[in-house]
Amino acid sequence: MLPLGARLAVPRAGPAPRSPSRSGPLATRLYLPAFSIVAAAVVVLGLGWWIGFGGASPALAVSDLRLVIAGPLSLAFLAVFLVAERVRPAQRRPLIARGHRQDLLFTLFNVAVVLPFTAVLGLAFSTVVIRACPWLVLPASSTVPRWLATALVVVAMDACNWLAHFANHRNNVLYRFHELHHSQEDMNVLTVFRTHPLIHVSYLVALIPAIILLANGTLTTTILVLYAATVAFAHSNTNLGFGPLERIFVSPNFHRIHHKLDGPQDVNLGFTLTIWDQLAGLAVFPTPHTIRTDTGLPGRPLAVEQAGERPHHLRVFAAQMAGPFRPVPTAAPGTDDLMPSPHPIRRTL
Ligand SMILES: [Zn+2]
Ligand SMILES: [Zn+2]
Repeated sequence: MLPLGARLAVPRAGPAPRSPSRSGPLATRLYLPAFSIVAAAVVVLGLGWWIGFGGASPALAVSDLRLVIAGPLSLAFLAVFLVAERVRPAQRRPLIARGHRQDLLFTLFNVAVVLPFTAVLGLAFSTVVIRACPWLVLPASSTVPRWLATALVVVAMDACNWLAHFANHRNNVLYRFHELHHSQEDMNVLTVFRTHPLIHVSYLVALIPAIILLANGTLTTTILVLYAATVAFAHSNTNLGFGPLERIFVSPNFHRIHHKLDGPQDVNLGFTLTIWDQLAGLAVFPTPHTIRTDTGLPGRPLAVEQAGERPHHLRVFAAQMAGPFRPVPTAAPGTDDLMPSPHPIRRTL
């Protein structure tokens, strides 16, 4: 099966084509279904604010999430992964490759803007769910050890992340927000931050297991840091598989197949555990042939920093943020829009 990105690909390099007319109907200048995701975020935030976030503090939620994403332990993991990428790279490339610089921009944007947004969005969602469905929260049980409840939450959260990621690849509107993540041609550990802020709406479902077991076990900051670290490491440019353990855990060599340029990219959707892909028949295990594979989207349907003589990081970043709202790229006359185009990657710095 072709990845959706391939089906939408245009046979040309560079960003998606502009609409034919600036004065045409709105639907020809914008991809209107994308605004349904904006509306969903506004509704969740609005409801959360309306019920006062259940008495919880949005500022505290932001500082908690900041500790997970940018706390000392997270930064230590990041440093180790950056060294691993240099020592044992899957693809040899300069430290200041264009893709690395662009993903650093995404990292700074995440810490400054996306992190507060997702923290408050998550708090609002949890508050609304608990208020609307209080029966979802199981009563505290003295028979279930706390460590077991916590382990169950982590495994169920990973399953929900898999489901949301699966939906990202099967739903056209969600994929328009998700394709930015797949556009990276210089995959590295910071690619985990290369996401559109609004895609986090689709991952709110992963909060439900923690809500259900709220009274029996909570996810500590350390557990969340470890979970986030495994997801980040899966994106690193490190030539590393986990051998037999890959039947359970996602390795960098396993996840790189999900970003493979000549796809299919709707395989290996797992965040931390590979078991969901195996259950769904969507697991593709690494071979020596897949380790150094090129990544990215055929035909570059979205603006990428690797195109052009000079990178123009900020301009490309703005185009990547606006990408989901622009008209769906159409095939040039006389071409088959169901076929992926040859990918004109230019390895430039
Ligand atoms: Zn994906
Ligand atoms: Zn990924």
